[in-house]
Amino acid sequence: MMLVGKVALVTGSTSGIGLGIATQLAKAGAQIIIHGRQEDNPSTTNDIVQKISQICAVPAHFEPCDLTKEQDIEAFIQKCQTKYKHIDILVNNAGMQHVSPIENFPGQMWNKIIALNLSAAFHTMRLLIPNMKKKQYGRIINMASAQGLVASINKSAYVAAKHGLVGITKTVALELAETKITCNSICPGFVLTPLIEKQIHQLAKEKNTSYEETQANFLAEKHPSKQFVKPEDLGDAVVFLCSPAAQEIRGIALSMDGGWTAR
Ligand code: NAD
Repeated sequence: MMLVGKVALVTGSTSGIGLGIATQLAKAGAQIIIHGRQEDNPSTTNDIVQKISQICAVPAHFEPCDLTKEQDIEAFIQKCQTKYKHIDILVNNAGMQHVSPIENFPGQMWNKIIALNLSAAFHTMRLLIPNMKKKQYGRIINMASAQGLVASINKSAYVAAKHGLVGITKTVALELAETKITCNSICPGFVLTPLIEKQIHQLAKEKNTSYEETQANFLAEKHPSKQFVKPEDLGDAVVFLCSPAAQEIRGIALSMDGGWTAR
């Protein structure tokens, strides 16, 4: 229960990796602000809030915001800071993907992916760091990707955004190097969440293969381990980065990718 008394905002925590991170942070005692989109299923969201509240014994709340809109982000962060007084841990996790060759990649989709996967983290960090400085504690973890370190075809916007996220993480870590605030990124390989399931379904349709066969090939192509990364393992890595032992870990891109980027 190392994080008792700390408040954590995990963006995109109504699903997949974000939910895994929120759960592990709650197990370490932190109060959690669950975040997602206004249109996320209310009964699922209520279940998540109840489950997380029971785990950490501090009420969790759902705060929606469309993170592709700068003005909405400002209002959202202001509301959170007023309501929760202080945000100690910021996990920029919300993200999306679109797979298409660059010549067919819709410009609007490029803008949306850059806005959600990269610019949103810039805004949440610039808005929350002043209060972290006042409190002399802060942990910022940006959910990048193996595709923030190496490229994949047909993912121009995602690869650009994730490389950018790894880059801004290093810059912010250096700007904060003499403070008690750290900023790091995590670079997962494939995690079986709705974001990846959609890609496997799309590939299966294109190749006219079964979902199971496509999934096995998809994984084997990138992960020497042939295993998916688990959301709870990513959550435990976030808890570690929030621990006192991690106080001088600054600006890293932590690979958790089944060996993908070791090759
Ligand atoms: P997911 O699709 O399961 O969840 C995405 C979350 O983002 C949801 O909570 C959703 O509500 C939120 N979201 C989507 N659009 C939003 C918007 N416009 N405004 C606010 N919130 C929005 O995805 P996931 O697989 O859990 O991915 C989480 C993060 O991890 C992403 O940044 C993704 O790029 C990254 N990542 C995922 C994988 C993987 O294999 N799944 C691998 C590496 C990195």
